[in-house]
Amino acid sequence: MGILDEIYRIKQKDFTDKLQEATNPSIVYVTDLTSCSMKRIMRIRYPLLSFRFEPPIILGELVHTGLEKILMDKGWKAEVQVEKRVNIDGAEYLLKGRADLVKYSQDDESKAEEIVEIKTGRDLPLNAPHEHHALQLRIYLDLFGAKKGYLVYITPERIVEFSVDPEPVDIETLIRETIYNERAPRYEWECRYCPYRRICPFAKTR
Ligand code: SF4
Repeated sequence: MGILDEIYRIKQKDFTDKLQEATNPSIVYVTDLTSCSMKRIMRIRYPLLSFRFEPPIILGELVHTGLEKILMDKGWKAEVQVEKRVNIDGAEYLLKGRADLVKYSQDDESKAEEIVEIKTGRDLPLNAPHEHHALQLRIYLDLFGAKKGYLVYITPERIVEFSVDPEPVDIETLIRETIYNERAPRYEWECRYCPYRRICPFAKTR
């Protein structure tokens, strides 16, 4: 079996393993809160449409894995999961996320101090991080109770780091907007890259 076949099988297995959770309507991911609310509904209804096996995604995952490995040797923890139960109008939801890198206090190993999110691709912002990335990081800062965040953008041309301070985030409102599908799309550009755009009644592009 070639390497490509091997990578494909691994990606397919990862996708299949997460299918049950990804289609559970009681689960909301942190990434759902920073993107189009209709995408979550589409994922629950048509989960197989979101399977993507494309070079930019594979490259991005390899960059994540490499940088996480380098920083794990410097005391960072990688792919750290976080969960929070939230009650919305009598129904219980589980908010789930996974921060790329977390540094804990040397005095108290349960106390998160800094969080890093890694972003790859070609769309590198110039003077400030993308709004949805900063929002995602601020949600993690809130959920982990950390005081400092960094967004690291890695593209073929540049590597840029932005520091992000904690700011109050109304997580409950974001969950409401998501489960009641009030932000479809959250940003107009999302539709251009959306795997559901051909069957979505709210699509802003064909
Ligand atoms: S096509 Fe646009 S509105 Fe529809 S799910 Fe995708 S991002 Fe949301």
